This record gives sequence, C-alpha cells and structure tokens, in this order.
Amino acid sequence: MLTNDQLLRYSSNILMSEIGEAGQQYLLNSHVLIIGLGGLGCPASQYLASSGIGELTLVDHDTVSLSNLQRQTLYSSDDKGLSKVRQAGQALSRLNPDVRITAIEQAATEENLDALVKPADLVLDCTDNRDVRYVINQSCYRLSTPLISAAARGFKGQLIALDPQRSHGCYQCLYPSSVKEPLNCSNAGIAAPVVGIIGASQALLAINFLTEHALPWGYLKTFDGLQQHWQKLYLPPAISCPVCGGENAHSS
Ligand SMILES: [Zn+2]
Repeated sequence: MLTNDQLLRYSSNILMSEIGEAGQQYLLNSHVLIIGLGGLGCPASQYLASSGIGELTLVDHDTVSLSNLQRQTLYSSDDKGLSKVRQAGQALSRLNPDVRITAIEQAATEENLDALVKPADLVLDCTDNRDVRYVINQSCYRLSTPLISAAARGFKGQLIALDPQRSHGCYQCLYPSSVKEPLNCSNAGIAAPVVGIIGASQALLAINFLTEHALPWGYLKTFDGLQQHWQKLYLPPAISCPVCGGENAHSS
C-alpha cells in the first residue's frame, strides 16, 4: 500500500498504464545491485533511486578525482579524494530517502561477488574493466540473476540485457578471449552525454524488467553518438562457452 507521499512522489510513474500503482509497488519491492559508480553508474543509480527502487546496493572501491567530474554527475568539486560509493549513497539518499541504500567500498571480485549478487533481483554492470565484467557475468550465470551490462568510450556506447535462464549468448560469448582492456574511459576519452545515455538506458531496461515488461534479452545494442544512431544485434550462445554454453556451463 503506497503512502500519500509516495503517491505524490511517484505520480508520474503511476499515471502511466505501463507502470501504474501495481508497477510502482514492484519497484518499491525490488533490489538492484549496481557495480561501478562512475560515468554509467551515476545516471543509472540516479534514475533508479528517483523512480523508487526499494533497495540499491552500490559497489565501488574508487575515490572521486577531478577528471571524473566531467561525466560523473553525482559528485561535486568538494568530493575530490572522497569515496565514490559513500558520496553517491549520500547524494541518492538526499534525492530519495525512501530508498534503502547500502554502500560497499570494495572492488567487485570473484571472492565477494556471489554474496553481493545473491540477494539482488537484477545486476547492473557499470564498471569500466573487462576482467571485472567477466567475473560479474560468471556470478550472474551461477546464480541465475539477470544482468544488464554496459560499456562506453569515445562517442560510442553499448549495452546488453542477459537472462541466464534464456538461451542467448553471455558476456563471455561476446568477448571470448580474456585480453586486457586496451582502452578505458580514463585513457581513451569519453563524451560525457554518451555515458549518460547508456547509463540511463540501463536504468530504463531495469525499470521495464522490474515492472514485468519484455526486454530485448540477448541483443547487443550499440550507440554511435556522432551519427546519433542505434544498432541492434542478436548474440547467439557460443557452443564452447564455459559460462553459458559448454559442458561446464552453470557449474560453480
Ligand atoms: Zn556464453
């Protein structure tokens, strides 16, 4: 049952037949894990908090630096040197005190991920490190937890929604060889609105999923910010994939 304050705060959601009061209640009952509170995690967490996701767990080990402020919109110049996850948690609590926020100042690793993923209904991979993306993908497939994985650099961004219970490919199928990430935002440059668009798209997919709308599971969506153009490509499972397709699939 929504309170009067909630009916007012979320009235723009509730007015839409696609969400309504029942959908808002689903959002309030949901728990989303956001890994990475940088350029993607800032807009994704802002829209999820403002939309009334009941519980957000934020994970990031990094501190705010001056060069982050071009695109990481939860932070201000006063936050330099402070923990991203703590400052993000405080900013999101100010935005919406309704949301239960847990800020975990740690890197996501093979050792801690399963415990973080387990209580969540959905995981958003907002990191900028390919090695971490592999282990997030593995953990979500082990625990059958849906994952929305995204990346951006330069004027380009991409995202994909993965449901381990469906037969499309996974992040490991998309990038089979575990090569080091050749470029990331800090050494390649990034157009700030591009991470805004991709992070907000992750939040939109999350809201659609949590209010029981169909997602384009297994479709890689790429965005070109110079051409203002989206493309969509289905990702089939690789037979030899050790995470989702091969004989070792789903083993822990
Ligand atoms: Zn796979």
